[in-house]
Amino acid sequence: MPDCPICGKPVVKPTPGAPRGAYPFCSDRCRQVDLGRWFDGRYAIPAEEAEPDEDDPRDGRG
Ligand SMILES: [Zn+2]
Repeated sequence: MPDCPICGKPVVKPTPGAPRGAYPFCSDRCRQVDLGRWFDGRYAIPAEEAEPDEDDPRDGRG
């Protein structure tokens, strides 16, 4: 029996053909918690840093 990835409670695996419900979470609440983590940035991909809009003073040597 799988465990809820959020709270660790045992989750009853749904039978084939039956609606999944909140699986693999124990409840819809835990499912929402997981979704919230995505928006919270825990799983977010680091974005590229914006380049500073300044001219390089060392440019034009010679
Ligand atoms: Zn849970």
